[in-house]
Order: sequence, then C-alpha cells, then structure tokens
Amino acid sequence: MNDSKEKLNVEEIYGKNVFTLSKMRAAMPKSVFRNVRKVMEQGGELSPADADVVAKAMKDWAVENGATHYTHWFQPLTGITAEKHDAFVSTPDEEGRMLMGFSGKDLIKGEPDASSFPSGGLRATFEARGYTAWDITSPAFLKESGAGITLCIPTAFCSYTGEALDKKTPLLRSMEAINTQALRIVRLFGNTEARRVKASLGAEQEYFLVNFEKYLKRPDLIFTGRTLFGAPAPKGQEMEDHYFGVIRERVGAFMKDLNEELWKLGVPAKTQHNEVAPAQHELAPIYEEANLATDHNQLIMETMKRLAVYHNMRCLLHEKPFAGVNGSGKHNNWSLSTDNGVNLLEPGASPERNIQFLLILSCILKAIDTHAELLRQSASDVGNDLRLGADEAPPAIVSIFLGEQLEDVVRQLVETGSADSHIEGGILRTGVSTLPDINKDATDRNRTSPFAFTGNKFEFRMVGSADSCASPITIINAIVAEAFCEAADLLEHADNFNKAVHDLIKDNMTKHQRIIFSGNGYSEEWVREAERRGLPNIRSTIEAASALTSEKSIRLFEKFGIFTESELRSREEIIYETYAKTQNIEVLTMIDMARKQILPACMQYARNLAETVVIMRKAGVEPMAEAEKLAIVNTQINDAQESLKMLIDAEDRAGRIRGMRDQAFFYKDIVRPLMDNLRVPCDNLEKLVDKKMWPFPTYEDLMFEV
Ligand code: ADP
Ligand code: MG
Repeated sequence: MNDSKEKLNVEEIYGKNVFTLSKMRAAMPKSVFRNVRKVMEQGGELSPADADVVAKAMKDWAVENGATHYTHWFQPLTGITAEKHDAFVSTPDEEGRMLMGFSGKDLIKGEPDASSFPSGGLRATFEARGYTAWDITSPAFLKESGAGITLCIPTAFCSYTGEALDKKTPLLRSMEAINTQALRIVRLFGNTEARRVKASLGAEQEYFLVNFEKYLKRPDLIFTGRTLFGAPAPKGQEMEDHYFGVIRERVGAFMKDLNEELWKLGVPAKTQHNEVAPAQHELAPIYEEANLATDHNQLIMETMKRLAVYHNMRCLLHEKPFAGVNGSGKHNNWSLSTDNGVNLLEPGASPERNIQFLLILSCILKAIDTHAELLRQSASDVGNDLRLGADEAPPAIVSIFLGEQLEDVVRQLVETGSADSHIEGGILRTGVSTLPDINKDATDRNRTSPFAFTGNKFEFRMVGSADSCASPITIINAIVAEAFCEAADLLEHADNFNKAVHDLIKDNMTKHQRIIFSGNGYSEEWVREAERRGLPNIRSTIEAASALTSEKSIRLFEKFGIFTESELRSREEIIYETYAKTQNIEVLTMIDMARKQILPACMQYARNLAETVVIMRKAGVEPMAEAEKLAIVNTQINDAQESLKMLIDAEDRAGRIRGMRDQAFFYKDIVRPLMDNLRVPCDNLEKLVDKKMWPFPTYEDLMFEV
C-alpha cells in the first residue's frame, strides 16, 4: 500500500502480478509457447511435457516475485471464489535441502476435498472427489494478502463424472455456443475472415463503505451483510447530493489503493464515483472478454473487501444493506464482437451492415422474450429480492429498452416492412435499409429498464451487487445462441436470401415486440400493462428457480451442451437450500439482537422512566410527559415481545420442514412477514429511546460518519 502522496506509475505497475502472455513467451521455448497459444485459441489439452515446462516457468516467475504458495482458484456455487493454498515446499533431501516444486500435474489438475461445497445432490458426500482444471484462457496471477503472496491459477471445478460444480464451466461452454452460432450469422453476410465471435462484459460494481468499528458492533452486518433493524436517519438520499459528489478523503484513499491493487492484477479499473445513497460508491472497469471479466469482477469484490479493512472501513456488497435508501446492483454490459474487431451490436452505416444488425437485434428480442423467466432467474439471489421491483432498481419484469430511434425502426418494420420489400438492383429495400446514424450518445437513457440498448451494447441492470456475473452472462449467451442457431438453420438454406432474411426480421420483431418497453419501469401501470402483454413478473428468487428446469430451458441447455439436466436440477436445489439457510441465519440474528440487545436496553429505559414517574409523583408534581412516554414505550415493547415470540415459534416450525423447497417457501411466505413485524416496533423504539442507551450504531452513525 502506498502513501497517498506517493506518485503512481500506472504503466509500470499494470499487470505486474499477472503471468501475462509476454512473460510466458519470454520464459519458455518458442515451440511450447506456440502450443499454449493454440490451446488458448482452439481448445484441447497441453501435452504432459509442455505442461511441465509451463509449470516450471510459472513457478519460477511466482517465486522470484515472493510467492510461497499456489492455489487452484475456482468459483463454486456459493457465488464467490474458493482457494486452498499449497506451499511450493517439497520433501527435503538427505542433507536437509529443499527445492521448491511444482509440476505440470500440479498446474493442470487439482483435487480439493469438495464435500463441503454446494452440489445440490450431484456428488454424494462419500464420493466427495471434485477436480479443478486449469482454465488456460484466464491468466495466472499473484495475490498479495495477509497470507503472503500466492500464485492463483484460475480453474474450472467439476465432479468425478465431469459434471460442473462451479459457475465457470457453464460460462465457458456458453462462450463456445455463442461463438459457433454467431459465426454462422456473420458468414451469411459474407464475412469470411472472422475466426471467432466473443462475448464481452463490462460489469459496473456498486458497494457501500462503513466504519469498521461501528460495523463490529452490528451482529446483523457481521452475520448477514445487511441491517435487520434500523430507523431511517433524518437525512437519506433525498437531496441527491451524494451522487457524483466530491469523494471524501478516507474513501478516496481507499479507491486509490484499490485501483493500484487491481491494476497490478491486470484488472482495467477505469471509473469511480459516489453513488445515489449515502456511503455508496461505484467502480467500473473497461470491458473484456466475458470469462476474464467475470474472473476480474470476483477479484474486484475480493480486493474491495480486503483493502477496506486497512482503511478502517468495511465494504458491504450486499444488495440491500440499508432499508429506505438505494441498494446496490451490478450492471452487466454485454456485447458481441468478432476477433477482427467488429462489434455486432453496432448499427452499421451501410445497408448490409444494417440488415445484419437488424437480424441480430430481432434475434435478441426473440431470445429475451422467449426466455424472460430464465433471464430473470439469472439475476436472482436472496439479497436481490429486497431490491428488484422496489422503486430503485429495475422491476422484476424483464423488458427491453431500445431508444426512440430503434423503436421506430422496429415499428416501421412490423407495420410496413413487408409491403415495401422488394429486391432492386441487388439491394433490399425495406423502407429502413439505411438506419439513421445511431450515435451512442444520442440514445436516450432509461434508468428504469432491466435490459437496455445503449448504443453498441446491452446493459443488463437486474444483477445484484454480490452476485457472480457468470450466471447472467451464461444465460444471455445461451438464449441468444439459440435464436442465432434457429435463424442460421433457416437462412443457410434459403433460395432467396434477401427475402428470407427480411421476412425473418419482420417475423421475429412482430412476434416478440411485446418485450419492448420504454416507459417508466417503476410504475404501477407497467405492472398492469406487462400482465396484459403476458410478460412474467416473478417476484422472488425461489419462484424464479424452477425456470432452470422448465422443458424449454432443458432443451436449450442440452442442445448447446451448456448444462445437463442433472446439473440444472442440482442448481435449482441449491437455490432453495441457499435461500433457507440465508433466511435461517437472518432470523436467528434478529432473534438474538431483539432478545439480548434491543429489548433489554428498552426495558432499562422504561424502568428509568417509571422510576422518574414514581419519584416525581412523590415530590408532588404530575409527570405528564414522562408518563405519556412511558406508556408509548411500553406499548412498543409489548409489540416487540409478542412479535419476537411469533418469530421464534415460526423459526422452530421452519426447522422441522424436511424438503428444501418447502422450507424455502415457508421462510418466504410465513417467516419473512414475521421478521418485518418484529422490525417495526424495534425501529419505533429506536426513535423513542435515549440515544446513549441504544445498543448498537444507528443508520446515521453508519452512513454519515465513515
Ligand atoms: P454507461 O455510462 O452507459 O453505463 P459506460 O461507457 O460508462 O456506459 O460503460 C459502462 C460499462 O460498459 C464499462 O464497464 C464499459 O467498459 C462497458 N462497455 C462499454 N462498451 C462496451 C461494449 N461494447 N461491450 C461491453 N461492455 C462495454
Ligand atoms: Mg451503467
């Protein structure tokens, strides 16, 4: 960490902790490097001999830079990352000398005892073998932390029988699917040079920072990542003075360190600013290929949490740490481009480009409309339930915002496209064959839309701040690949290509235009309008979970080899399990805080008031204010005590429900409302009781005094 006055040379430190291609090239024979590149680009496996050479080069570089340990870094279904560190230490020789060892085998494959990771029944505990396999497309890096310096090897995590136990494997499979199908589309339009189409991701990350000592006094923040109690501070976000406001010194120093650490890790951190809620901030990196960007987003979250502590702060990544002010999301900006640099979501200036763009756009409309439930599911997690549809984040209804110009193009195509369509001098006249120049900055903004076209990319805004980007991007890739595949199947055999492509665009747009919406997504009218249009409005994570295993989802994923049916069923099961466990922890924390902290403090306060009342009466004055306050406080204490008893009883019943799905729904339908019931009198009491007696820091302490 640097003194804040010290100058940074960004070019010098950028990628310092990454085993980049150029470092690899320098560290190994040309022939081995060539083989590595080939596997990176075309898939396949390294030979054992090559793997040994790469391993040695990687270890030498790591050790030279101070690493003592290595780890296979993977992304199990917990949504965060996992690592088990092994020292490079090997058995000493007879004379007691030790040579640091690391073989090709160590590099390529690991075998963590995986029984304690969620598997949703895929891997019985008694056959707990799980394998981590090096993802050669994501570079190894050095992590500096309290544990020293560790060489991290990004890996995929699978069961003994090859089923994916992680978020990375399906993402990589979906990248393959979108690559294959998108290539078919660009070939139709005469592009013979592109060898690959890649999905890109730029993930904007929102977060809160709170004072570390105050954080330590809040069991709810410690155990659940959010506040379960808390009356609103006198000031919230209504003045709109925090958004883009001047960054406070301590926060600025944190951001500086964060950038430096991320740049060293090769994460292209770019933009930072204050967000809408007090104590809320955002970091956006430059977009990268989606699997790398997903790894990097994990590193961003990890580094935020780790560094905040050095600044006497705590980073909260929960989607809704505080009631009454905005929660945090993670906007996933997604686009497709060829390896020769053409962004397929860029409306072109020429008619051919326009037709290709319109076909792609129409396929995306079809994909999102057909699989709206699945897309909704991909952005769901327990914390995000508190945010979606709550007037600060997109609604739980999936729709697409295109902007005025494009929407008009779609309307024209749907209404008049067919009538206008005829071939003339080899060029198709669609009435919209040349789009007006769609300038990125000219597209108007709609912050309430969950899936918005922003000039040359789509921005998926539903994703929660703590979630991995892997699931949303896997789903977007998969559903769009399916629509591309269906289009290519039809067009590759068309007798009259121009007519066929035109008819298909019109057909897709006509059938799926109901998914387009440019009005206010936060409004009640939209909820009714969406219902009229037949669009799903799925309100919670556990209601969304079954979208994974619907017939059309299974067909989609199996067709492109992204998930097997059993992988999907296990993931659905894990969602119920995670939901029930998360709720269980929240309830137990609430019960503890109410029983051991809030009620004792309030009872003490009531006792003080009662004593005052008695003493004043004895002294011959009528304690009007005191008696009135005592009565109010007493009523709230009784309310809280009653609600507490009901919550304890419900928690007890929840624990006796066997099936995970049933338990999860019991928590959502029965327990959650009782949690709200307990919170109300407790928050009322916070407003009544002497501040000095309140047992933990309040919203104003947490949000305004970092
Ligand atoms: P906005 O202000 O509209 O949200 P920005 O230009 O600030 O847009 O970009 C937000 C994020 O989107 C950044 O991470 C950026 O790198 C990313 N981004 C920009 N262009 C693309 C693209 N073509 N594909 C994917 N992500 C992109
Ligand atoms: Mg944005």
